[in-house]
Amino acid sequence: RTAENLGDVLVLGLGKTGVDVARYLLGLGDRVGSVTVYGGSASTEGDASRELESLGGRVVLGSEDVEGSYDLAIASPGISEFCPFFLSARDHAREIIGEPEFAWRESPRDWVAITGSNGKTTTTSLTTALLHAAGRQAVAVGNIGNLCTDEVSGRVDGEWFVAELSSFQLATTRLLHPRVAALLNVTPDHVEWHGSLEAYAQAKEKIFQNLDGGDLAVLYQDDEYCRGVAARLATRGVRTLMVSATVEPEGPDAAFVRDGVLVVRLAGRESELSRVEDLTLKGTHNVVNALFSCAMALELGCDARELTDALQGFQALEHRNEPVATVDGVLYVNDSKATNTDSVEKALVAYEAGHVIVLLGGHDKGTDLASLSRLVARHCKAAVCFGAAGERIARAVEDAAVLESSNLAVIRAPHLREAFDAAHEAAREGDVVLLSPACSSFDEFRNMAERGRVFKGLVAGLSDSDKAEL
Ligand code: ADP
Repeated sequence: RTAENLGDVLVLGLGKTGVDVARYLLGLGDRVGSVTVYGGSASTEGDASRELESLGGRVVLGSEDVEGSYDLAIASPGISEFCPFFLSARDHAREIIGEPEFAWRESPRDWVAITGSNGKTTTTSLTTALLHAAGRQAVAVGNIGNLCTDEVSGRVDGEWFVAELSSFQLATTRLLHPRVAALLNVTPDHVEWHGSLEAYAQAKEKIFQNLDGGDLAVLYQDDEYCRGVAARLATRGVRTLMVSATVEPEGPDAAFVRDGVLVVRLAGRESELSRVEDLTLKGTHNVVNALFSCAMALELGCDARELTDALQGFQALEHRNEPVATVDGVLYVNDSKATNTDSVEKALVAYEAGHVIVLLGGHDKGTDLASLSRLVARHCKAAVCFGAAGERIARAVEDAAVLESSNLAVIRAPHLREAFDAAHEAAREGDVVLLSPACSSFDEFRNMAERGRVFKGLVAGLSDSDKAEL
């Protein structure tokens, strides 16, 4: 733990991140001059503000116009770097950073950092599970839903922080220096927040900004943007390990599939981990995630033999290509976490062509639908389009069906429930009903988890009525 004096600190936001960071700061005693928190006007923030005030903090509610001057400002992840609130705080603070950067400064040893457009949570959980299997202390932190700062106080010596970092969180990092960092892929998402695809990609590249010769950068060979980043890292003398599901990357460090077996090469020495068919996780994208996780665990000194059981037994996380039930020969799959087009494309091809009924729709992020809709037209039996984005998606897949001369059935439904009923009606034995919506959920649900649970509830209702008929 560093003993640096932090001076007067400003916390932006009074959601979970802001409250926990402020609580942590208020527990630091002499290391902090004062703690000021700016929050919004949500009702929950009233309770939080009373608690923080009782601990000695100062709380300002409902103003985005920061006053005073601060040594350090810590921004919550939902606050865009471009919004007036953030800009105002920046003008009043010597430095403004995000929460993971703050946690790293408080406890900077032994971090693994993982980012990418898709696969972060799966890879973060699997990497943590592999470290555990090899007898290491490790905890998954960050965007996965476990605030890095919350784990700092109780951290034991030698414990690895395996941090899932979003592009929002990376945008506000400066000194964060992991021992191993991974970039899984870069596909268009959250472009509205960052202003452009370039800004989004640059935020992701920041995960590597402080790596040096003693560290390892792990990147995806089959992603053009990752290859560009790898070339830049090589000129800086940073060791890179490329991961591929399709080719065997060159060089002393690589992870790939050879004759159906996952192989990691480190400093020229190869380890075989598992046959692809023995993994519980399904789909090529998950083979890639597994290769990333194995490469990182081996780099940290784990032995391949210690990893096999945990690797093979690792199951799909909830809402990520999660098989829910088979009813009347129809498999129902909850992929509510698929909030962008690339993750949907990966999910679709994990199932047999001509048998997929996909549920698409939700809050419209305005993403380009060209590539997804052509794949839907080629690969699916039906597309059920619902929610705010439903009409735009329905038109895109109809156009694609013409271009691809496909028999795709396009069905429109107002909400998830009606979409589910239509999919159920269209499904025959051997089909897959896949909720993989390519949109966020905010038009109808609080978050993607609620959407996934509603879907699973609808599937459960189905099984009940079938049982009743027997
Ligand atoms: P994230 O935390 O980055 O959102 P998740 O592991 O939660 O990633 O998975 C999100 C969605 O992306 C799921 O629909 C999942 O099936 C899909 N996915 C997982 N790994 C990958 C990958 N390597 N490439 C593309 N899509 C993926």
